[in-house]
Amino acid sequence: MIYMRDIVKSYKIGKNKLTVLKEVSLEIKAGEFVAILGPSGSGKSTLMNIIGCIDVADSGEYILKGENIKARNEDELAHVRNREIGFVFQKFNLLPKYKAIHNVAFPLLLRGLGKEQAYKKATRLLERVGLSDRMNHKPLELSGGEQQRVSIARALSGGPSILLADEPTGSLDSKSGSEIIEMFLALNHEGNTIVLITHDLNVAKQAKRIIHVRDGKVLEQ
Ligand code: ATP
Ligand code: MG
Repeated sequence: MIYMRDIVKSYKIGKNKLTVLKEVSLEIKAGEFVAILGPSGSGKSTLMNIIGCIDVADSGEYILKGENIKARNEDELAHVRNREIGFVFQKFNLLPKYKAIHNVAFPLLLRGLGKEQAYKKATRLLERVGLSDRMNHKPLELSGGEQQRVSIARALSGGPSILLADEPTGSLDSKSGSEIIEMFLALNHEGNTIVLITHDLNVAKQAKRIIHVRDGKVLEQ
């Protein structure tokens, strides 16, 4: 599913260059539930951006479902991203003025689904994450854990190959955080591939495998 070999990524800061990923190699198979664990600033989000086709590496090889990502231009990158990746963020990134159901239906409408189909599918997805009775709430009328479940439903809407979650429990209390991890475990059990990025060992431990990142390098897999 994911194959990375010697991925290098630097940022230019003025005249200086900061190399954040230093020859990262890793492999994630379809159906896995993997945590990428590392301290703040170790390059996790940078790595996530590359896995999620938001950004490309300076050098090295990234093959996603048999496709070489390096060779893609921005439009092709967006195409792969929309088709293959569902994103979950620490801060939910929901549209604040829209009810939960609209937040989930919106990307489906953007994908060209008819209104009736989009809302039917959004309803099913919200039921799947246990929010049948919260569909008409706006984000601020929901708890943090509920908002994160809306964002998981949204992430699932495009039928992604990979669910990519960057600190999905980072804004939640420990109980809501555990519920989100339980949700990921259930989704993984149903066959979803999940990549969870975190600096929290206790969160990472709940995944099926941990990839340790430190100073821009993968320590062990
Ligand atoms: P955290 O756990 O705090 O989210 P992280 O492991 O996700 O950290 P990254 O966000 O990947 O770390 O950042 C790694 C390093 O790269 C940091 O030193 C950061 O300041 C730097 N960095 C990240 N994005 C950029 C950017 N767009 N331009 C310049 N430097 C950046
Ligand atoms: Mg980060």
